[in-house]
Amino acid sequence: MIVSLIKHATPAQIDEVADRIRSFGFRLHQSPGAERSVMGAIGVGGDLTACLESLRALPQVERAVPISAPYKFVSREYREHRTVVRIPSPAGPIDIGGDDPVVMAGPCSVESEAQIMETAERVAAAGARILRGGAFKPRTSPYEFQGLAEDGLALLARARERTGLAIVTEVMTDSDVALVEQYTDLFQVGSRNMQNFALLKALGRSRRPVLLKRGLSSTIKEWLMAAEYVVGHGNPNVIFCERGIRTFETATRNTCDLAAVPLLNELTHLPVIVDPSHATGKRSLVPAVARAAIAIGADGLMVEAHPAPEKAWSDGAQSLSLDEFDGMMRMLESYRELWRQSRLELAYA
Ligand code: PEP
Ligand code: MN
Repeated sequence: MIVSLIKHATPAQIDEVADRIRSFGFRLHQSPGAERSVMGAIGVGGDLTACLESLRALPQVERAVPISAPYKFVSREYREHRTVVRIPSPAGPIDIGGDDPVVMAGPCSVESEAQIMETAERVAAAGARILRGGAFKPRTSPYEFQGLAEDGLALLARARERTGLAIVTEVMTDSDVALVEQYTDLFQVGSRNMQNFALLKALGRSRRPVLLKRGLSSTIKEWLMAAEYVVGHGNPNVIFCERGIRTFETATRNTCDLAAVPLLNELTHLPVIVDPSHATGKRSLVPAVARAAIAIGADGLMVEAHPAPEKAWSDGAQSLSLDEFDGMMRMLESYRELWRQSRLELAYA
């Protein structure tokens, strides 16, 4: 439920509302940055109707309404204004969902110091602001490269120091959250772990933002519910990443659901970016899908780029060379106006 208080509610009156909500068995949820005068509460088993009635009887309560969406805290019913997820970086904070689309780029996997440094320098020079690279890799085959683990995280941190880029890297299990948290600026939850609920809960207890990739065969609702796990457990900073879904079509690695971008903008206040690399699986298609994503107002992109894609240890076929990445970034410049227009046309600002 959402409870709005009158403008000049005193701290004692606010506490009275909080106590009453708790006495009905509901859990309070105060999103950081939200006005103190709007309170959210959830819970299972409490008598919602009785609680709402009791709250409405208090003079300091202006409005007490249930949230009808099954995903409460990520829904637009809960928060009218778009959430801007702020990511710290040595070059200053990076806002996802703000006034500019943000590009995250880098190799699928961190392979070596030379590989990550060269990539970081080139993608930074081309305009990317966040370096991606997997150190823990979810591979279909157990015989394929599984990532450099902590050594890979350390290389990413060194690349951040060198270039000023922020970093994003995947965490696959709740037991790795504390380790990955020491290195990364933004956690990535991969498609295969979108419904790893122990992981989502652990990330809910972290203060670092989370990039939540869409599950291989997940519906929009399941995806929103996955984000609800993170936000409901205390971490309001979630970014959605559309990376294609599995359909009957096999000509592309996945089928890119671009409509997910405007749809999520209707359903949630959280930002959404697009990964044209995993969405297509094919290097030649990446720039076109990236342009489309920018044109419809995605908050950013995640793109795989590698100094020598043909030698990449994972996902080479969909990785751009560093020159190709540079070319794509130049091309995207001319889509900025379309991006701005899309943002103005969003159902809300
Ligand atoms: C990746 O980003 O390299 C990755 C494994 O992505 P996804 O989880 O979308 O397959
Ligand atoms: Mn990959």
